[in-house]
Amino acid sequence: MAQVAVVEDERAVREVVGFHLERAGLKVVLLPDLPDSAALEGCDLLVLDWMLPSGSGLALLRRIRVHPELSRLPVLMLTARAGELDRVEGLESGADDYLTKPFSAAELVARVRALLRRFQPQASEGRLQNGPLSIDLDAAEVTLAGHRLDLTRREYDLLVFLARHPGRLYSRGELLDRVWGPDFLGGERTVDQHITQLRAHLGEDISAPRFLETVRGRGYRMRLCP
Ligand code: CA
Repeated sequence: MAQVAVVEDERAVREVVGFHLERAGLKVVLLPDLPDSAALEGCDLLVLDWMLPSGSGLALLRRIRVHPELSRLPVLMLTARAGELDRVEGLESGADDYLTKPFSAAELVARVRALLRRFQPQASEGRLQNGPLSIDLDAAEVTLAGHRLDLTRREYDLLVFLARHPGRLYSRGELLDRVWGPDFLGGERTVDQHITQLRAHLGEDISAPRFLETVRGRGYRMRLCP
C-alpha cells in the first residue's frame, strides 16, 4: 500500500485530505508543520502546503530535491496562491504537480493517483545520452566516446544535474542550491571550480565548449550535441 505524507497546517483541510486519501486505499501520515526529512523516509508521495507555521513548503521542497534518499519523492504542492508566477515558481522548485485551494477531493485523489503511477519504481533509471557523452545512472558511470571518466561524487552530481536539464541556464546560486544543497557554506567560486574540473575531464576547448557553456554573468548550461 502506497504511503502518502500530508503536510498541512489547517486542521480541517488536513483531515479532509487524509480522509479521502485513506478512502482511496492509501496509507496516510498527517503532519501539521514542516517535518524533518526523516519523517518522510518510507513515503511514496508528499502532499505539501505552501505556507506553514515554521516556514515555506518551498524551502522543504528544495531540501528534499537535494536529499540523497528523498530527491525522487513525488511532491504535490497545495496553495492558496493561484498566480501564474507562483505556479511556475512551484514547478521550477521541483514540485511535480500543483493544486490551488479550494480543490475538490476527487481532483486531489486523481492527481495523487496519477503521480503515484508516474513515479512507480523503475527497474532501471537508465541512461542520459548527449552526443558522445553517456551517463549510466544505475552504475553512476560516465563515459565519453566510450572512455570512462573518473569523476568525484560532486563532479558527477553536477554533471548529471546539468545533463538532466539540457539547454536550461542555471545561475551559480541555483546550482549551489540544487547540487550542493542549501546547507552548503561555500561560495559560488565552488561552482566555477567544479565546472573547470569537469571541462578538463571532458577535454573541452574553453573557447568553444561542446558541453558546458558559460553564459557570461549569468551561469552555466549543458548544450545538446547535434
Ligand atoms: Ca497553510
